[in-house]
Amino acid sequence: MNPSNYLKIKNKIPTNVNILAVSKGFKSQEIKIIQNMGQNDFGESKFQEAFEKQLILNDIKKIKWHFIGRLQSNKLRKIVQNFKYIHSVDSFEKLQKISNISFEEKKNPLIMLQVKLSDDPTKGGFDTKYLISKWKEIQELRNIKLTGLMTINPKGLSSKENLKLFKKCRSLADSFQLPDCSMGMSGDWEEAVDAGSTWLRLGSLIFGNRF
Ligand SMILES: *Cc1c(COP(=O)(O)O)cnc(C)c1O
Repeated sequence: MNPSNYLKIKNKIPTNVNILAVSKGFKSQEIKIIQNMGQNDFGESKFQEAFEKQLILNDIKKIKWHFIGRLQSNKLRKIVQNFKYIHSVDSFEKLQKISNISFEEKKNPLIMLQVKLSDDPTKGGFDTKYLISKWKEIQELRNIKLTGLMTINPKGLSSKENLKLFKKCRSLADSFQLPDCSMGMSGDWEEAVDAGSTWLRLGSLIFGNRF
């Protein structure tokens, strides 16, 4: 645990940049410590692991849960029921399913669409041209609040390369008039801030190394 890192970063970033504390691999007790420092947004990437912590922390009403992991079709309903934000919507089909489920569940999740800005075979996401071609249809989907785009940069890029990809994400979001860009992790958050991130997804920098 590095709670002092949390405060350091919090004091360094502009007030319009939010920290999402990525608590995957860490226990509810560790979430509580960070929550006590004023952090209320927590990100998880596996439904079952997250749900167990949500039950334990259920009495802390201030916590807002964000889903940032791969969306398995058979978990979508549970994710819609239990998360306020979904950052990792990587296909039109899943977005449609989320919209239909949200309607049935009377939910209105905040959605960020994951975009693929480089040829990283390990990462999913919308292709930019495809996203532009589907934009009108996407806007017509009910019971979702589309607030932004999300991207994960490939590992091992230089600072300059990271900045360039993040700027691409920012300008694409701007072209759709979307306020949010969920970008920047423990290793590249400074470039993400410079490029106009509104959500830094920080795990190890706050919680320490995952084992
Ligand atoms: C784990 C994870 C993070 C946080 O990674 P760190 O490098 O520990 O900050 C951010 N985004 C996603 C999608 C993740 O899965």
